[in-house]
Amino acid sequence: MPSTTTTTTTTAIEEPPLQIDLSAPLKNHPPLIAPEPEHCPGPESNLAGAGSACAGCPNQAICASTPKGPDPDIPLINQRLSSITHKILILSGKGGVGKSTFTTMLAHAFASSSTHTVGIMDTDICGPSIPKMLGVEQETIHISNQGWSPVWVTDNLSVMSVQFMLPSRDDAVIWRGPKKNGLIKQFLKDVEWGPLDYLLVDTPPGTSDEHLSVNTYLRESGLSGAVVVTTPQEMSLLDVRKEIDFCNKAGIKVLGIVENMSGYVCPGCRHVNRVFKATTGGGSELARECGVPFLGKVPLDPRIGMACDYGESFFEGFPDSPACEALRKVVERVKEEVGVKEEGE
Ligand code: SF4
Repeated sequence: MPSTTTTTTTTAIEEPPLQIDLSAPLKNHPPLIAPEPEHCPGPESNLAGAGSACAGCPNQAICASTPKGPDPDIPLINQRLSSITHKILILSGKGGVGKSTFTTMLAHAFASSSTHTVGIMDTDICGPSIPKMLGVEQETIHISNQGWSPVWVTDNLSVMSVQFMLPSRDDAVIWRGPKKNGLIKQFLKDVEWGPLDYLLVDTPPGTSDEHLSVNTYLRESGLSGAVVVTTPQEMSLLDVRKEIDFCNKAGIKVLGIVENMSGYVCPGCRHVNRVFKATTGGGSELARECGVPFLGKVPLDPRIGMACDYGESFFEGFPDSPACEALRKVVERVKEEVGVKEEGE
């Protein structure tokens, strides 16, 4: 398989790789005298010091006196992201549905058009896997006079992930909500993405702090919507219903559902076997039931795993795979849903 990994040199003035002290307090974080408890609403939130979760917390007086109101960083985030046309969340109800793999393949599929510039923001802070899949795991972030520079995978595909800040790829990130929230804000506020056609925001499974943070910060700068990834089994579909409910409550437009691992591609004859039976109708039936678009079925090709392990583009290495054909259709459907009109239409 040909290697697709190239690194683009930034023209900005560069300084040595960024070293982040992961134990340092975040900007705007009140000086707490004890760790945040499990159900902390966030020392920077409007509920800080006043919510029922704060009762008995040693930090209550500090949090209650912290200034409330709109986050002063939101205008900066809006300004920073103003050169990104479409911001798309990639969600899944549960882990194990291949969401991050799907995100990298979708990014490669978008970037296969040289007229598109694409970015991936990896917000899975506790389990970042996107850099490995893109073959840039060993890269570090550089800061310049313009901000943090994302890592360029190809000439038109860049990525930012917490993985780049870890001293070792085996280091665990054990953070509670407020600190994750702070890092996501920093990603949005300080990363100099430059002009992008699409920013794909890869999120952890479920509906957690990362989702709330991303939605809060992106809402004003214009979030195009969310692509929800599932597998055909009812166990996965059950959680997707919750994810769609979360989107409805948070005011996030659901661009559609993608059924991933929808069959197994034989690498020899390209025949697709339905190994995971959709006993309750699969993603298409769920989309109909929830009144959201169905974006397509992407089969599992065993060569996808190999490409991810080597950090190479499956999309470029095996363009004839039924999985790539399916991804191209998903890209077209997503473009329709975000209102992109190609020339001649
Ligand atoms: S917001 Fe402050 S007072 Fe409330 S639980 Fe969190 S740390 Fe404690």
